[in-house]
Amino acid sequence: MRLLQVFSRYSFLAFAFWLITCSPKGYPIKEPGQGIAMDIITLSSDHMEGREIGTEGADKAAEYIEKRFKEIGLNPKGDNNTYFQVFSRKKSNNPHGDDSQGEGDIISGKNVVGWIDNKAPFTVVIGAHYDHLGYGKEGSLYTGPAAIHNGADDNASGVSGVLYLAESIKKAGFTKYNYLFVSFSGEEKGLWGSNYFVKNCPVPANSIHYMINMDMIGRLNAEKKLSVGGVGTSPAFDKIIDQNAPSTLSIKKELSGMAPSDHASFYNADVPVLGFFTGQHEDYHKPSDDHPLINYKGAHTVLEYIFTLVRALDSEPKLSFTKTKDETQNRVAFNVTMGVMPDYLYDGKGMKIDGVKEGRPAFGAGLMKGDIIIKMGEIDVADIQTYMKCLSTYQQGQTVEVTILREGKEVKKPVTF
Ligand SMILES: [Zn+2]
Repeated sequence: MRLLQVFSRYSFLAFAFWLITCSPKGYPIKEPGQGIAMDIITLSSDHMEGREIGTEGADKAAEYIEKRFKEIGLNPKGDNNTYFQVFSRKKSNNPHGDDSQGEGDIISGKNVVGWIDNKAPFTVVIGAHYDHLGYGKEGSLYTGPAAIHNGADDNASGVSGVLYLAESIKKAGFTKYNYLFVSFSGEEKGLWGSNYFVKNCPVPANSIHYMINMDMIGRLNAEKKLSVGGVGTSPAFDKIIDQNAPSTLSIKKELSGMAPSDHASFYNADVPVLGFFTGQHEDYHKPSDDHPLINYKGAHTVLEYIFTLVRALDSEPKLSFTKTKDETQNRVAFNVTMGVMPDYLYDGKGMKIDGVKEGRPAFGAGLMKGDIIIKMGEIDVADIQTYMKCLSTYQQGQTVEVTILREGKEVKKPVTF
C-alpha cells in the first residue's frame, strides 16, 4: 500500500480515502495458513532485498512467483507467451514532478501474469503487488540507517493470496469465466504496474467481470476487522459480501473504488473492484514488517472468505459497473502533512492516529499513537475525510491548534507545519 503522504502527489481524489529461500514442494495445506506461510516467508526473506522495482531482489521475487504459477498449472499471459509483462517508467528527479514525464532515470519492472483460460467471453482478475521499498530510500517511515524493508504484510501477504486463490480456483474447476492472476510491480512508486496492465491488458478491459486486489491482508487483529473497499463499484457486491461473511470476521465495507492501491487503476477503467486490507500497524513501511508478525491463520480466514465470494460471483452474469461518490470531489493538493498514519479501521468520531513519524509536525507537537484528533483549529473533525479537508487548507509555517482525545481526555496541542 502506498504512503498517504505521497499519494497526493499523484492527485488522488481527496483521499478516497487508502522465507529463507527454500524450494517449496507441492502445496498441500495441512494446517490453515501453512501454505501461505511458505510464500510469505520466501518473498519477505532478506534474499529478495525488499523487492524494490528495478532491482535484482524484485527480479528474484518475480521468478519465484513465475515458478509458483507454473506449479499451480497457470498458463502464461504476459509478453510473447511468457509470464512477464515488462514496462518502464521515467522516474522524475524532481520530487514534486510527474513520474511519467521529464528528465529522470528509466526504471524497468515486470508484472507476473498467469491465467486459466476457459474460452469464456468474460474474465475475473485477481491481483496483488509484489514490489516493496527495498532499502527504504523512498516511502519509508523509518529514520535509521539503510535497512532491508522486507514487506511481509506489504505485500508478500497479498501475493500469497493470489497464489492461494489460483490454486483453489484451479482445484474447484470453475469454468464460467476465465481467471487472470497478476502480481504487479511498481505499486509503491505510484501504481505503475497496474496502471500499465490496465492500459495494455491481455484481455479487453470491458470484458473483465470484476477485479479483486489484496494489499496487506496479513495482520488481522484481535478485533478481526477486515476492510473491503470498492463495494459501491457494482450493485451486486453489497449483498454477496454480507451473505458470505463468516462470523469470525468483522467486515468494514467502503464504497469507494479509489484507494492508494492497485484496484484504483481498474476502477479508473470502469471495472468493478474489491480491495481487501486487514489494517494499518506500527510496522507499516518499516524494516520491522517481517514474517514472524504475520497472522497466518487470520490470512487464511480472509482468503477462504474471498474464495467464497469468487464462487458466489461466478453465479452472477457479468457485473455492471457503478462510479462511486468520490468522483465529483475535487482533487485536493496538500501543501502540508502532519506525518501521521491514520487508523483506517477506526470507525468512531474523529481521526485516530496509528503512528507518528519522527521529525514531522505531529511528532514535534507531541502527538502520539492512539490519540484521536477531534478538532483542527475551530473545525470539528468527524472522520478521516474531514481531517484531509482541513489539512488541504493549511500552508507551511502555519500553526494550528489541534484538539485530541488522549485516554478519554481532551488535550490541545499547537502543531506547526
Ligand atoms: Zn506499501
